[in-house]
Amino acid sequence: YQAKQTGRGMHIFDTQQDQEVHTRYNRLAVMSQALHQSEFRLYYQPKVNLRTGAVVGAEALLRWQHPEQGLLAPGEFLPLMEHSDLIVETGEWVLHQALAQLQTWVRQGLRWVVSVNIAARHFHRVDFVDRLRGLLACYPQAPAHLLELEILESAILQDIPHMRQVMQGCQALGVCFALDDFGTGFSSLSYLKRLPAETIKIDRMFVDGILDDAEDITLVSAIVALAKAFERSVIAEGVETSAQASKLLALGCELGQGYGIARPMPPEAIVGWAAAYGKTFTAPANA
Ligand code: C2E
Ligand code: MG
Ligand code: MG
Ligand code: MG
Repeated sequence: YQAKQTGRGMHIFDTQQDQEVHTRYNRLAVMSQALHQSEFRLYYQPKVNLRTGAVVGAEALLRWQHPEQGLLAPGEFLPLMEHSDLIVETGEWVLHQALAQLQTWVRQGLRWVVSVNIAARHFHRVDFVDRLRGLLACYPQAPAHLLELEILESAILQDIPHMRQVMQGCQALGVCFALDDFGTGFSSLSYLKRLPAETIKIDRMFVDGILDDAEDITLVSAIVALAKAFERSVIAEGVETSAQASKLLALGCELGQGYGIARPMPPEAIVGWAAAYGKTFTAPANA
């Protein structure tokens, strides 16, 4: 430290670096408080069959209902959290909420897969499988096979055998996996063979250009072919228009999620949304 003598005495947060550490620490403390004061919410974004319009599931997406700043998306607070154990505590809270929601939907006769994003730091905890087993036991009416964990492709670490082992441990409980944002990481294709994820999620970056960018079309076709060859299911994220949905169907991708279908919404809105969507859905042309 470059402690400096001032009229008011010694200041330990003096250099810019010290101040950054201080700010980070404060922001984490505020987030921890937010978690304990129930300011976090889960929104849900439907996943549908693009051909039939059937709702197949919903992805849980974290929001912070900030008392002054309003509803904050994860981009505004998650990156900092991911470098601290607060992400583990938050991740467990998310799993609890999502399983409670799944249980509610199952009681209503709905068979929707609930997807939960899991941070690398959380997933790599030694007790991840044991804690998940304990969580599932808290919600006996939430079938484990309707819980899907989304792991970022970019979070695949070097230790594939370990990752594979954890995934298999979860799968033994009935839980399934999706590789999120597929195509944006730098993982070798051989990881796909070694990681037993049931589903591949095509990143929205590729879906974005699917109508006019020949390279994006090639990439999406290649990912779909890869998924089929490895007997994995495939879903596209970021579907914003019905033209994109038609194109995805033509390329062999049947499942989709995106603003063009529905934005993430509070759980109590989704049943009503699904009913309205079912009434107005029309199958895309030429698909
Ligand atoms: P993700 O898992 O890839 O989720 C998809 C993101 O794309 C969500 O952003 C969603 O709102 C947004 N999105 C969906 N459809 C469209 C579309 O048609 N167009 C565009 N432009 N965007 C679309 P969101 O909710 O801001 O979340 C961002 C990321 O934060 C997520 O990306 C996920 O990686 C992470 N995240 C969200 N919730 C959690 C959580 O509970 N735990 C962890 N560890 N990560 C989370
Ligand atoms: Mg996701
Ligand atoms: Mg994604
Ligand atoms: Mg994404």
